Amino acid sequence: MSQKRAVFLDRDGTLIEDLHYLRDPAAVRLLPGVAPALRMLNEAGILAVVVTNQSGIARGRLTEAEYQATQRRLEELLAAEGARLDAHYHCPHLPEITGPCDCRKPGPGLYREAARDLDIDLASSWWVGDRLRDVSAARLLGGRGVLLLTGSGREEAPLPEARSWLIVPDLETAVRHVLAA
Ligand SMILES: [Mg+2]
Repeated sequence: MSQKRAVFLDRDGTLIEDLHYLRDPAAVRLLPGVAPALRMLNEAGILAVVVTNQSGIARGRLTEAEYQATQRRLEELLAAEGARLDAHYHCPHLPEITGPCDCRKPGPGLYREAARDLDIDLASSWWVGDRLRDVSAARLLGGRGVLLLTGSGREEAPLPEARSWLIVPDLETAVRHVLAA
């Protein structure tokens, strides 16, 4: 058994500014402290895996190719600061348009796919994001969740369902918790 630990990271509002249906790579902006936080995960041998809902694709607000271009830009910005993402997964659906799927967060589909692809032990992994739907799969799959106050976090944190999760200001603080666990 040499299964790996992972941190499953939301993208918009967690790693980069949430611009809603982002399609222009030039508009990708890292949030403060994100590159150093990912570098800490990289150095600790913990996988950094993006899982993101991109319903703008189902809505016709951006294309698959435009999404991929923004993802490449994110990776370039991180590489310039010596950090990397180990994998990224996205759900292009919206149930009202494309029907039900199990990959749209909080569904577990993409986490299970990542676990198979990368040999991840879900029960010892972490879920991090600015919305409850980014972390709630931890309840189903094991592992722990951290809600951030970046992005939409300040609207989500007062919700009753948020009480059961660790809430921290930003990704860097979340990563410190992961590394101390
Ligand atoms: Mg988000």
